[in-house]
Amino acid sequence: MAVQTVEAATTSEATTASVDLGPAAALSCRECGHRVPLGPLFACAECFGPLEIAYDFSSYETEELRRRIEAGPANIWRYAPLLPVPADVAEKPNLNPGWTKLVKADNLAREIGVEQGKLFIKDDSGNPTHSFKDRVVAQAIEAARAFGFTTLSCSSTGNLAGAVGAAAARAGFRSCVFIPHDLEQGKVVMAAVYGGELVAIEGNYDDVNRFCSELIGDPLGEGWGFVNVNLRPYYAEGSKTLAYEICEQLGWQLPDQLVIPIASGSQLTKIDKGLQELIKLGLVEDKPYKIFGAQAEGCSPVSVAYKAGHDVVRPQKPKTIAKSLAIGNPADGPYVLDIARRTGGAVEDVNDEQVVDAIRLLAQTEGIFAETAGGVTVGVTHKLVKEGLLDPSLTTVVLNTGDGLKTLDAVADSGATATIRPNLDAFRAAGLAS
Ligand SMILES: *Cc1c(COP(=O)(O)O)cnc(C)c1O
Repeated sequence: MAVQTVEAATTSEATTASVDLGPAAALSCRECGHRVPLGPLFACAECFGPLEIAYDFSSYETEELRRRIEAGPANIWRYAPLLPVPADVAEKPNLNPGWTKLVKADNLAREIGVEQGKLFIKDDSGNPTHSFKDRVVAQAIEAARAFGFTTLSCSSTGNLAGAVGAAAARAGFRSCVFIPHDLEQGKVVMAAVYGGELVAIEGNYDDVNRFCSELIGDPLGEGWGFVNVNLRPYYAEGSKTLAYEICEQLGWQLPDQLVIPIASGSQLTKIDKGLQELIKLGLVEDKPYKIFGAQAEGCSPVSVAYKAGHDVVRPQKPKTIAKSLAIGNPADGPYVLDIARRTGGAVEDVNDEQVVDAIRLLAQTEGIFAETAGGVTVGVTHKLVKEGLLDPSLTTVVLNTGDGLKTLDAVADSGATATIRPNLDAFRAAGLAS
């Protein structure tokens, strides 16, 4: 680990002179605050803490920034002034994800005991490869261009592999992505169809991730940008766009409560960072908000630590149908605990049966077919209301981060109500006339 970091630091010094990533000013350590120039680095050379992007927003005037955003394209690039990307990013070949629907979910609200007009689904299944991952990959691609990588790679729980494959195809990169061998067919096909290399690893996600870390340190991985490893600080910033969109779609207001799924915990921590930025920039009025994390019981290391009052997250061996969230050793777990506690939220989990029930409930009340991760957030929201932890009278945004077509197995017992011969007598006999 130490050796890799030192090597990467040398690379970054060599490349920083030509790097234009917009308002991104430096990398800064989340633990000790040590700053280094922008480069393909993810761990602090001083303390091994995670590096994140530090910005220079000092030239922005609030109302002018708001007008600039509102006049921008209907995708994540309307927020380019707040992201680690060059100013002309929208003109480069990319998938232009984002600006997904914020759906007022009154029917679901009625079923789970939330006040009318207060419950919203942020539906990220509407992204180009049908998950929230297109947001983060779009940032990583700009960093990859800036640092001169020619191959894009990742360790993936499924959705990321597809997002990298698609974005690489469009942007003209070679791609080679790594997944656990036992993923859903929908995720495997989605990752393979864009024509990049797809490697299935005999092991779980944590094994895949460990393998990728080794590959980065080896000459075999030279010239490779791993979107969620050596480009992780850039990648992670893409999740801030969810916070920006939710607030803008609510009329430049903070929601009171958010329910966010946790795999590595990156998305949740960066949504919090995005909300904090909007407050500091004066784009929303400062008020308290609560962040709730959602996990599947079969992979619930953060929720277990939260409930036990621990600051450290003990790794688990995942066993759940929510495979996109199946990270047993979540890198940002401790930061998720901090945020849930600081904001007065919580971390909760639901079992696989509750995940499936929630997928059906969301589909049958709002016409949204979520993947298992969406079943986790909707199921956890229902549970939090019952437990009295989520206030049903406050504005609540629940994330659906993926599309049910990729996890058909979860609801595979759905099918035709009846199979009949094509005549009216047969239909009458089936007893379905109103
Ligand atoms: C990757 C992913 C997440 C969140 O991942 P983090 O590692 O916590 O950022 C959530 N939902 C889906 C469907 C995903 O694929």
